[in-house]
Amino acid sequence: MDNQVIDVEKISGYHAHVYFEPHTRPLAERLRDQLADFDVVLGRWKEGPVGPHTRAMYQVAFAPEQFDLVVRWLMVNRQGLDILVHPDTGLGHAGDHTARALWLGRSLPVKVEYLQQIDRDYKMAEAIPLTEG
Ligand code: ZN
Repeated sequence: MDNQVIDVEKISGYHAHVYFEPHTRPLAERLRDQLADFDVVLGRWKEGPVGPHTRAMYQVAFAPEQFDLVVRWLMVNRQGLDILVHPDTGLGHAGDHTARALWLGRSLPVKVEYLQQIDRDYKMAEAIPLTEG
């Protein structure tokens, strides 16, 4: 991996992916209800693996200026749920979901090959080793 310095101004937004299992779904529901009070965009419930995500989850999209509030709030209110927070840098989905991501709770597997294919489809140049994430 190179030591390229990335200008944070390139980050156009963030996603928080809130993972859940059948027995933690009620917690995810409550968290979602509380997140509705923030100026975030809540994605649909995904009841199983979808795209690069290996577990059921929903997505929370938010703007760069909300990072501080939303991530601080999730950090202390996640109720034991595992959450992937990743930027949209425009530099590659694979890197955004691995090397440039952060996890609240356990870090779960992400299908990096899926993201690399998207990046190839979008012709995003990025050298992310397969072992990351
Ligand atoms: Zn995402």
